[in-house]
Amino acid sequence: MEIGTGSALEPANFIEEIIQSDLESGKHAAVLTRFPPEPNGYLHLGHCASIVLNFGTAQKYGGKTNLRFDDTNPETEETEFVEGIINDVKWLGYEPANIFYASDYFDQLYDWAVLLIKKGLAYVDFSSPEEVAAQKGTPTSPGTANQYRSTSPEENLALFERMKAGEFPDGHCTLRAKIDLGSPNMHMRDPYLYRIKHAAHHRTGTKWCIYPMYDWAHGQSDSIEKITHSICTLEFIPHRELYDWIIQQLGIFPSKQYEFARINVNYTVMSKRKLKQLVEEKYVAGWDDPRMPTIAGMRRRGYTPTSLREFVKRAGIAKREKINEVNLLEFCVREDLNKKALRRIAVLNPLKVVITNLAEGGTEWMETENNPEDPNTGKRPIAFTKTIWIDQEDFMENPPPKYFRLSPGGMVRLKSAFIIRCEEVVKDDSGNILELHCSYIPESRSGQDTSGLKVQGVIHWLSAEHAVPAEVRLYDRLFSVEDPASEDDFKKTIHPASLEVVEKAMVEPALQEAALVDRFQFMRIGYFCLDPESTRDKLVFNRTVSLKDTWKP
Ligand code: ATP
Ligand code: MG
Repeated sequence: MEIGTGSALEPANFIEEIIQSDLESGKHAAVLTRFPPEPNGYLHLGHCASIVLNFGTAQKYGGKTNLRFDDTNPETEETEFVEGIINDVKWLGYEPANIFYASDYFDQLYDWAVLLIKKGLAYVDFSSPEEVAAQKGTPTSPGTANQYRSTSPEENLALFERMKAGEFPDGHCTLRAKIDLGSPNMHMRDPYLYRIKHAAHHRTGTKWCIYPMYDWAHGQSDSIEKITHSICTLEFIPHRELYDWIIQQLGIFPSKQYEFARINVNYTVMSKRKLKQLVEEKYVAGWDDPRMPTIAGMRRRGYTPTSLREFVKRAGIAKREKINEVNLLEFCVREDLNKKALRRIAVLNPLKVVITNLAEGGTEWMETENNPEDPNTGKRPIAFTKTIWIDQEDFMENPPPKYFRLSPGGMVRLKSAFIIRCEEVVKDDSGNILELHCSYIPESRSGQDTSGLKVQGVIHWLSAEHAVPAEVRLYDRLFSVEDPASEDDFKKTIHPASLEVVEKAMVEPALQEAALVDRFQFMRIGYFCLDPESTRDKLVFNRTVSLKDTWKP
């Protein structure tokens, strides 16, 4: 090792520092983390950070990670989301050591609740939520005990049994831990452990009508799995005391909780609840709409797992919340796609150009690189024919000074082909441009140019005879303000031009062979991928990101 370069296991953040020191001190022989999503929606970019942190860190230190569904709320959880989440984690490049469900532990959790009752540390409470809130006191004044707090363990056992047996309606009573009504931590003032919900669960069906609260399920699930480092977001800091208390009272494996700041990104919202509203109220086409910050949406938009992992790495794991720039995300995907994307030609707004001095059928074959960043991808032939398409944006009838593209009498180079000169602009009776008549300079062939002409502009083009039609969907940021979540109604700030559909684009024939996993750079336009709605008869491409940052609110 060179002096001063540090070891390969240099900790990248405070979580890694803790893990490294726990391994070095022998506190743990190996690291086991878990990623614990609630299956009530699709994963978003924030979850992606948590996945990279949990799986990536364990991997770095030779450990493992469980995927555990935190499925304690029967009403909001669905199998569709479970499958979506497993798919997303694997797509990001991670293999869970195990796939577990908090609901797998319902029997064990029930037994532990019985144990707590027997120890005189839990009681069945018939107070209403309002009464409980009032009795809890405030952070500056202690709570007051109600009559249920002194019920005997025997009575509580019988009542809890009846709760489980379905004898009481929803919300009729709860099981609460008996801890400390004077604690400065409100979470320690006799927190709820179980509530009654006569609802079918996606895995346990109608077996249960009492369901554990997050605090009663999470720590014990960690402990059952022998999770060494239970990493979660900052809002769980006040839960940590309860997490430790429960583990201690039950005398089970001492998993430890560590907290980091949520990842935020500007111009988007990052809460499943809000994303769900966008889907259910049809502001977007679904959870995988390419404008959504969901992993499914970003995948469909053309983001790569590498670019998302890189974004998380660069955004960093911190103890304080901050807002990350969406520019950073776009930078990461451009950087990755620049290396990987095959260069292809698309003309979004075709303008017909007739090459007057090329014979009908007089095809000239050219060659162009598939990816100059990766010479192994080779070259492909492209046909130069009598009629070609150029983009309307590359022609101006009355150009400003220093305009380097095509204008009447002016010259431009066709990428990987010849220089052409605009001889005539053909219009209809209303003055609309129908086509251009241009001549080409046969001595100006790319790579063998003996014409001696100096031409500044290079534009892309397609042989009209060979090009195929395609729909191109130009996606932009979904919101027009930096922090939509802080608005009264975040849905009112949806960016009206977040999707522009170009229905009549032309693309080169090689794109007919495109597969969903392929990534393309449409030359001079941006990065694109095939959309799953694409068919052989109707190609559809999504813009992942433009070539440069051109955002204007
Ligand atoms: P949301 O608020 O969007 O519903 P959540 O935290 O309720 O998110 P869970 O399914 O409970 O969603 O989260 C699974 C894991 O992902 C948790 O450990 C949670 O802390 C983490 N997580 C969620 N959002 C973010 C975020 N923005 N940044 C980092 N981690 C996150
Ligand atoms: Mg949640």
